Amino acid sequence: MSSDAGALQGEEEDTPAGGPSTRGGHRLAAVNKCSRQWALRYYWYYRPVGDKPYRLWGTLLHTCYEYFYAAMMPDPPEWFRKTALIDRLREQASVIAEPVRSQLLNMTADNFTAYRLRYADDHLLMEPVYIEEEFAATLEEIDPISEDEVRDEIGRTKAAVFRVSGLETRALEAGARVEAEYRALKSLDREIVTCRPDLIWRLKKNRTQWIRDYKSLGRSRVNYRTGALFRWTSDDGEESGEFSVNWQVLLNLKIVRARLGLGNIRGFDIQRVTRQPPYDFDRNTLTIPGDAYKHAGRVARELVAHENRVTLQIESGQKPAYRPSECQTQFGLCDYIHVCKAPSQHEMLARLNDPRRFTRNVQEALRIRERLKVVA
Ligand code: SF4
Repeated sequence: MSSDAGALQGEEEDTPAGGPSTRGGHRLAAVNKCSRQWALRYYWYYRPVGDKPYRLWGTLLHTCYEYFYAAMMPDPPEWFRKTALIDRLREQASVIAEPVRSQLLNMTADNFTAYRLRYADDHLLMEPVYIEEEFAATLEEIDPISEDEVRDEIGRTKAAVFRVSGLETRALEAGARVEAEYRALKSLDREIVTCRPDLIWRLKKNRTQWIRDYKSLGRSRVNYRTGALFRWTSDDGEESGEFSVNWQVLLNLKIVRARLGLGNIRGFDIQRVTRQPPYDFDRNTLTIPGDAYKHAGRVARELVAHENRVTLQIESGQKPAYRPSECQTQFGLCDYIHVCKAPSQHEMLARLNDPRRFTRNVQEALRIRERLKVVA
């Protein structure tokens, strides 16, 4: 689950009411960005203590909306039955100190009041089907590699190399290399990838089902003069490209369609909200580019291959590599910056194991490792 565009780019991650996704888009994006960041977060499972206020704010708003729709369900999820909304919000906000904690809780309450007023008719128009439900699919399901594809790719590569070099041996070598690459990718067929969409809902009038993500936008992402949302569609009818070619959206669509059936998920819509007043809300259906959608499964396969390579490196005693280009991004400093800038290995470990800086949930790390084991 994600709270704004940053989250979709892997800059943010918040924990949904139903728990984090096992091998979702955030995790795969992390290994693509920095092996070290991925290893600290997803292999050794060190999580920073506390939270950035804007990130926590997004989490609190998501939780409110999740409860809003769960209350409409005839058979709501267990987390809804177990924990009251106010208790859940207080628990999530407890990672941040006063007075910011109370301010965030008050602002969340105001926003949620406005949301409920704006969408008071939702129960007449739509039915929530799944809220924060985890879906899993194998790579084979979201990215089938056929023998025809392998043959075509080998033939195309050999022809291209022969055209340039005129040498049969070079062409044969290139063909063998392509075949080896494909066989390595194909060997991952039974690996799983997962997602946990914010909401899957059904339109009552025609029974079509859709995936929805909430995007809560702060001051820097709205019209600075009015405080309202930027228009989604420009004067010439061009849709905002912000979420259409988006890793998280594409992966979620692939996985959920693999589970529920291609024809059973019509598409994806984005619920935008401004975090602070004046409260502004809208919903927009995404136009998904066919090529990007087609290739998302292959990207997932390549990222799982990379994740496996990094795991192998760690388990054979190598240190995961630094990626300085990712330490500071437009969404702030990496959560592990103080570890990476420690003057010695000893100090690095001391910082990681300082309970004021990081927590470590070993049980959760083992549970996830177990779940990701490939059964022959
Ligand atoms: S600080 Fe930089 S090198 Fe270290 S984990 Fe973060 S992104 Fe990677």
